[in-house]
Amino acid sequence: MTATMLAARLHAPDPDPSRADLRIEAVAAPLPEPGQVVVDVAACGVCASDLHVVQGITPAGHFPLTLGHEAAGTVSSVGDGVTQWQVGDRVIVPAGRTCGTCAMCRTGRDNLCEATQVLGVDVDGAQAGAVAVAAGLPLPIPGHVPFAQAAILADAVATPYHALKRGGVGDGMVAVVVGMGGLGFHAVQLAVLAGADVVGIDTDEVALERGRRAGAVAVVDANADDAVAQVLAATDGGADVSFEFVGSPATVALASRVLRPGGRATLVGIGRDRLTGPPLGLFVSREQEVVGSFGATIADVNELVDLVDAGRLDLSQSVSHTFGIEDVPTALEMLHTREGNPLRIVIDHAR
Ligand SMILES: [Zn+2]
Ligand SMILES: [Zn+2]
Repeated sequence: MTATMLAARLHAPDPDPSRADLRIEAVAAPLPEPGQVVVDVAACGVCASDLHVVQGITPAGHFPLTLGHEAAGTVSSVGDGVTQWQVGDRVIVPAGRTCGTCAMCRTGRDNLCEATQVLGVDVDGAQAGAVAVAAGLPLPIPGHVPFAQAAILADAVATPYHALKRGGVGDGMVAVVVGMGGLGFHAVQLAVLAGADVVGIDTDEVALERGRRAGAVAVVDANADDAVAQVLAATDGGADVSFEFVGSPATVALASRVLRPGGRATLVGIGRDRLTGPPLGLFVSREQEVVGSFGATIADVNELVDLVDAGRLDLSQSVSHTFGIEDVPTALEMLHTREGNPLRIVIDHAR
């Protein structure tokens, strides 16, 4: 008899996620092929990228498709030829398997690998009892980093971490974070850790309060008529660097307007609207810069695991909601409506 497991499987997307054909169903548990390991999933995050797949905004590789791209768990079996893992090893399963050989991979920019296969998008993902992946994909988790924190680390925390590097944030700098949801909240936390004075911007009261708790020296309601003036006052004339996590034309403009001359805007948000920039003349007369930032590298994730393990980065407040697998549709709906202000939602596969 083949062992079965529960998996969150998308049979058909729909712009309204509550109408998508998403089933929690029993499927055969995976067995490792040569060169693969099977990881028993302990925790797997649910994030806006999942929502985009369920809504059909991000095209799925096939249907039905098992969702899930930010997971952590325990190696439960290893395929032929696998020497680096043993049953019982605690691992992070990152979202994408990079090729390791292209020009981007060879220069340490594996987040830009063009041959990446993303779990839960291109191939079956980890929102399930177990997932089979190439042995080169998982990353080790030191003993005392909890699974839920390890799961979100590779995505929700690593993306802003990479962005801070792209933006060049450092000790004594003034940084502005536009949008303090799951990614922006961690950007505030990490920029404070890097020694920056951070001003956070959002429209949501709960997000503003969270930003304050994460160490922002000031938070500004983007709905205020004088929002830009407030930021300029709080930053003594403008930020050295700004980070945009929303992905709308208005917030991109905001990220540019809060900079001092010579400042740098870092664009991270992926929204539905076509982005338009501030007038290019600004970049000449004020010598401003704009950089983009996409995902994170494997090195970023490993550095973050070490920061958490060393007790320098506290992610204990990062998971705002935990559900069982039967509640994946509820979690997606929550992300869609933003009801309850989810910071990070994790599915606990152990319960
Ligand atoms: Zn994600
Ligand atoms: Zn590559």
